[in-house]
Amino acid sequence: MRALSENEIRESFVNCSKGEARRLNLPRGLSELPWEELDFLGWRDPGAPDRGYLVAEREGALVGVTLRVPSVRRSLAKSNICSLCVTVHAGSGVALLTARRAGVAGREGNTVGNYVCADLACSLYVRGRKKSALVSRPEESLGLDEQIARTVANLDAFLAQVLA
Ligand SMILES: [Zn+2]
Repeated sequence: MRALSENEIRESFVNCSKGEARRLNLPRGLSELPWEELDFLGWRDPGAPDRGYLVAEREGALVGVTLRVPSVRRSLAKSNICSLCVTVHAGSGVALLTARRAGVAGREGNTVGNYVCADLACSLYVRGRKKSALVSRPEESLGLDEQIARTVANLDAFLAQVLA
């Protein structure tokens, strides 16, 4: 994606108040991020561990989404596969992130949840730019371009749910 300015990022949010968008913590070192290798900008709030954000281009417009990590302990089986980039993680490498829906639905408390790489660095995992001993990617018959296209398509479906 192209490099975004602080203003563009703050103005892109669709599921929080303008005040919240003005105050939220942006990723450090914006200008030094490897933008050309990012399919979307995703980050966890350095000052609030239960918050995360992602900003992506969709149909020619920027869509920013605020995410929460629910504090409720779940009894349901927890996924260790990112639903966006299909990277398999161990331990807490995948987090359930929920987004308040945009508009009226969100104001009524409607949310959409998704299991995603906890650090939101899907683009870098897909490209093999980020890994750890505990991270593995399944053997893929898809080429890199197709894996990137799949990540973007999965993200697009998630954003469609938030915006619906
Ligand atoms: Zn991922």
